[in-house]
Amino acid sequence: MRYEPIKKHGIADMKVKPNLLDYERARREMSWESMAKELEWFDDGHINIAYEAIDRHIKTPVRDRVALIWEGKDGKTERYTFHDLYRLTNRFANVLKRLGIEKGERVFTYMDRIPEIYIAILGTLKAGAVTGPLFSAFGSDAVRDRLADSGARVLVTTPRLVKTVDAVVDSLPALERIIIVNREGVPYELKHREVSYEALMEEASDEFEIVKTDKEDFAIMHYTSGTTGKPKGAAHVHEAIVGHYATAKYVLDLHPEDIYWCTADPGWVTGTSYGIFGPWSNGITQVVYEGGFSASHWYRVIEKHGVTVWYTAPTAIRMLMKAGEKVAQKYNLKTLRYMCSVGEPLNPEAVLWGQKVFGIPFHDNWWQTETGCIQIANYPVQDIKPGSMGRPFIGVTATILDEDLATELPPNREGHLALKVRWPSMFRTYWNKKDLYESRFKGEWYITGDRAKRDEDGYFWFVGRADDVINTAGHLVGPFEVESALIEHPAVAEAGVIGIPDPIANEVIKAFVSLKDGYEPSEELKMDIKRFAREKLHAVACPREIEFLPGLPKTRSGKIMRRLLKARELGLPEGDTSTLEE
Ligand code: AMP
Repeated sequence: MRYEPIKKHGIADMKVKPNLLDYERARREMSWESMAKELEWFDDGHINIAYEAIDRHIKTPVRDRVALIWEGKDGKTERYTFHDLYRLTNRFANVLKRLGIEKGERVFTYMDRIPEIYIAILGTLKAGAVTGPLFSAFGSDAVRDRLADSGARVLVTTPRLVKTVDAVVDSLPALERIIIVNREGVPYELKHREVSYEALMEEASDEFEIVKTDKEDFAIMHYTSGTTGKPKGAAHVHEAIVGHYATAKYVLDLHPEDIYWCTADPGWVTGTSYGIFGPWSNGITQVVYEGGFSASHWYRVIEKHGVTVWYTAPTAIRMLMKAGEKVAQKYNLKTLRYMCSVGEPLNPEAVLWGQKVFGIPFHDNWWQTETGCIQIANYPVQDIKPGSMGRPFIGVTATILDEDLATELPPNREGHLALKVRWPSMFRTYWNKKDLYESRFKGEWYITGDRAKRDEDGYFWFVGRADDVINTAGHLVGPFEVESALIEHPAVAEAGVIGIPDPIANEVIKAFVSLKDGYEPSEELKMDIKRFAREKLHAVACPREIEFLPGLPKTRSGKIMRRLLKARELGLPEGDTSTLEE
């Protein structure tokens, strides 16, 4: 069923005049080149993400504006101006220089959302090194795989999280230094290759000459899951800031007086593109809340800090819906003027719930780790068709290709969502996997891996993934990664992993497992296998459900048929089973 569009009635009754006043006209008259000119290219065409996010504001009144309002889990608040961040990121860049880090080398972070993660990421970029933020809920295998693949020389972490690294550090020969951030000052004895963040920062200078990076120099890596193999590092370059900046301005509609809150963690691409680079390159104050989700805590953050623009995700919105309107009514949320959502399909009910409870709808937008910035969006000036991801951003050409990836399909036909190459924040490779990277392109199109439709007004509608990748609570999880972890459990012979629909999290992970001889199915064994997966990977990738089967359906060549497991689970037609093993 299609819902009535939410009409926008021109800018006259909007509280704030949007940055994008006329979508059609902007598409005709603006380009990536014109948006790139809004940034400051230094010393003859060099560009550095950290320079755009921090340094260029130091010569302007934005210098003394609060950049970061940080609220810790315990409610303690700290404020950092752009000038504070300028000095601190310079110091961190000096720390890296002292440790011998050179342009292009990888410096990863593995921390909760504490101020130091922002300082480390930006300081790394100033030093010309490549930053790679790891989600703090990752288990030892997840951390090892990413550090090993990237060949990171330095890791910045905390006394609590370093324990996870200790378990795998011997298999990471490239990892020379671990910088320990101990903001609480807990008793901690530094081990071999560990150095103290606080001690090094104390000794470092506030002055740093930013490394002259070229627009094509690598800047940031985020690991993302595919159908086969381990997660791969999508690598982005310094030119990506043009995309972060322009979309934060024209899609998130950030204005100098805004207090902006992006709920994503820097361990995922939304948490860097829109939790660091987009807002700060626009000189905007942003809130970071260290704690996890809770309806009342989140509303309190909005009320306490007077959040005006909010960027969040469908699972969180559905959890707020579940908590009920009454919780929202206990807080003063009147400051909110604009709300956006990303990461998974946003159901029309959630769009409308925003309208009902906050007086404004959620504006859905679509993009991926690989695209680096928002590609398809709803805008303040445009009608919303609830359930649609919106229309392509200025400078973006999106289309729907047929099954052969050869022909563009007319409106209302389902096919492969593709984007015309290329845009500034497009990934430039999968680290160490050039062939895989190249396989994502067909002629002038980047093939996104999603299936979608476009309607006669040019609005795009998400249909589903074209592969087996599972989207649970906005996080992509590759079934292969989970299966590989499960079969390391001593009782597991084979594992097949699928996503099953869930009303809150979009999909949850279900694992079908056959046991080795001598093991009997039991509830305790299920719990043990789940715990095992959580420790190896992370909570997001841990199966919600496990079902024991005597054997798993396989093709004659021995591949587990996830498609068949899914069809059987959901009571759907089994399709072609001619390749099924006898
Ligand atoms: P990631 O690379 O982890 O950011 O995940 C990107 C994937 O999440 C996309 O390819 C889609 O499958 C899904 N996704 C992101 N945004 C949306 C959206 N607005 N609607 C539907 N799916 C989305």
